[in-house]
Amino acid sequence: MKKPLILQICIPFCVKQCAFCAFPYCTYDPRTVNAYAKALLTEIDAWEGEWDDHEVRAISIEGGSPALLGADSLFHVLQKIRRTFHCAEDVTIRLQTMPGDYSRALMEKMRDAGVNHWIIGLETASRNEHELLARPYKYEAITMADMAIRTFHPRALGFHLLLGIPGQTRESLESTLSRCLYYAPEHIIAQPLMIPECSAMAEQIRTEALQPMPEDTLQELIDFTRTFLCERGFQPSTKCDYVKSGFEDRCQLLMLQGCERLGLGYHSTSWMDGVMWRTGHSLQEYLEHPGDFETLAADMIRPDTTDPAALKELFDPLHILLWDHSPVIHPPAGHFL
Ligand code: SF4
Repeated sequence: MKKPLILQICIPFCVKQCAFCAFPYCTYDPRTVNAYAKALLTEIDAWEGEWDDHEVRAISIEGGSPALLGADSLFHVLQKIRRTFHCAEDVTIRLQTMPGDYSRALMEKMRDAGVNHWIIGLETASRNEHELLARPYKYEAITMADMAIRTFHPRALGFHLLLGIPGQTRESLESTLSRCLYYAPEHIIAQPLMIPECSAMAEQIRTEALQPMPEDTLQELIDFTRTFLCERGFQPSTKCDYVKSGFEDRCQLLMLQGCERLGLGYHSTSWMDGVMWRTGHSLQEYLEHPGDFETLAADMIRPDTTDPAALKELFDPLHILLWDHSPVIHPPAGHFL
C-alpha cells in the first residue's frame, strides 16, 4: 500500500502587502512570475520517479495570491503533477484565492484541472474592516463572487475569515458570516487575527493609532461564531475550521496527523522522515536552482518527535487549530492513515 503524501505548492506573489502580513511575499511582476512558473515545472520534473511508493492524497495551492500565477500556468502545474506523482483518484486539490482574482478563464481552468476545494480569502465583508486590513483588492470585488461561484462550482466552497479585527463587532461579524452563508459554503475558516511585530498594523498599535481587540472581546466573537455556525449545520473540525458533514478539509487534517508533505515552490514547507525544511533562501536562489534540493533546503530542523508538546508547536505554532485535548496529532512513528 502506498504511503500518503501532501503536496504544498507556494505561489508567493502579492500585488501589495496586507497590514497584518509577515509573510515574505514577493512583489508581483509579470516577468518574474513567468520565470517562477517555469521554475516550478522544472522542480516538479526533478522529482520524477522519486515518489513511486507514495500516493498524493491532497494538494494545497497557497500564497501569497496563487491566482497571480495565471490560469494557464496553474493548469500546467497541476497537469504536470498528475503526470509526475501518483495522485489518488479522489485527491483533494485545495486552492485559496482572493475576491478580485476572478476571471472566467481562471475559474474554467481550475475546474478543468480538478480543483475541488476552493477557499475565498474574504477575511471580512465589512468595508471599514477591509480597509483597515489593507487587503490587496477593491472592496467592490466581493460582488464578483456570484459569477465566479456559478462558473466554477467546486465540490467544496470555503471562506477564510478573520476574528478580532480592531473595531469588529458582533453585528459586523454576523453580517460577514451571513454574507458567506448566502453562497451555501461547505467550509468556513474563522481564524483569530495575528498581528506580527513586523507588520504595518503592529506599528499602528505601537503609535496608538489603533487599539487591538481585548482578549475577552475576541473570545466572545469566537464563541458567537461557533454558536452561529453550529446552529446552521456546521461542525467544528479544528478550533477555527467549521465544516458541513463529509467536507472536512483533508489537507488540514492530514497535515495535523503528521502526514509526509512535499513543498514545491519558494518558501514552501516539507516534512519528511522527522525533518522539516523550507525551500529556498531567497526567490532569486529558487529561480536559479529549481529542483536542486541540496542548495534550496533552508531552515532545516529535526524536532523531538517523541514529545507531543514539540509536535504541537510544530504543527500548530500559533495554537489556533488544536484543542488541548485534541487527538489529532500523533507522534510520527511510521506513517499515518
Ligand atoms: S495576501 Fe497573504 S501573503 Fe499576500 S500580503 Fe496579504 S497576508 Fe500577506
